[in-house]
Amino acid sequence: MTGTELLPEAAIGRAAGLLRAGALVAFPTETVYGLGADARQARAVARIFEAKGRPRFNPLISHFPDAEAAFAEVVADARAHAVAERFWPGPLTLVLPRAPESRIDPLASAGQPTLAVRVPAHPLARALLRAAGVPVAAPSANRSGAVSPTTAAHVMDGLGGRIEAVLDGGPCAVGVESTVLDLSGPKPLLLRPGGVTEAALAALLGPIGRPGAAAEGAALPAPGMMRSHYAPGLPVRLAARAVGPEEALLAFGPPLPGAGAVWQLSESGDMVEAASRLFAGLRWLDEEGARRGLSGIAAMPVPEEGLGAAINDRLARAAAPRG
Ligand code: AMP
Ligand code: MG
Repeated sequence: MTGTELLPEAAIGRAAGLLRAGALVAFPTETVYGLGADARQARAVARIFEAKGRPRFNPLISHFPDAEAAFAEVVADARAHAVAERFWPGPLTLVLPRAPESRIDPLASAGQPTLAVRVPAHPLARALLRAAGVPVAAPSANRSGAVSPTTAAHVMDGLGGRIEAVLDGGPCAVGVESTVLDLSGPKPLLLRPGGVTEAALAALLGPIGRPGAAAEGAALPAPGMMRSHYAPGLPVRLAARAVGPEEALLAFGPPLPGAGAVWQLSESGDMVEAASRLFAGLRWLDEEGARRGLSGIAAMPVPEEGLGAAINDRLARAAAPRG
């Protein structure tokens, strides 16, 4: 990709069309500028990680124009409806179990069984989300490790030439990120403090726990806390140079011969394609391997360049000893 279009507010239709076509479009929210992609398109989601230069696949927040659209993707209980009623649209993200019918790509949730959803308050963001008509995965629109951008110029500084467009809605009002509240388990957990205060949430929900501290709830730990958290059921063997009929193969490039089942990440060695097929592939190999009575998954080596680092981080987690 070459230039990044700086779009004025009036160009919402163009920005929405780009999103639907699988392009990356940064847009303003009331917190910070988000780097948006259609959450249902694996390649578009993979390109978010590439553009940001993220060293690992952490789960992304999907954005919606209203609570009805958000709750179509997740299993929302009475607590979720109560906080949504009170704080949406606004700087609150809810982590909830993925709905079985959700078409959000597994890469957008880093393979987790939960989804993070939010309805932003910024009028331009809502208009864009309504016009796009698809869930929009959007982390902050900055290079990994840089500060979150609150103007279109900040976004251009960091991501110009790496994304298709920036929708310029002027400076963001809040500048802090959304509060992330996990309602996927019995006890509400504050995963990230942000624009909505803990006290305001506690007034509605009672005491709010912290991840890890609240091990008594069956809730998921925060992403990345457990090394083997994303592990498939079958053992994973890294950097395989040969494979047998008793193993399933996660291939990268020309596949090793003789495996009992094969999932190709990218025959041509395209990192974006490989990233877009990683989570679906691990799930498929796990299911298919178990169905065929295979003993494990052998993963071919992936170079550390570009998205390869995040792919290898994920594979290392999958291969880590189980706790
Ligand atoms: P950012 O990418 O900067 O918008 O941050 C997204 C935040 O939401 C991070 O703190 C993530 O860990 C958190 N998050 C997103 N999805 C999930 C999920 N499914 N489970 C737990 N935390 C999530
Ligand atoms: Mg960020």
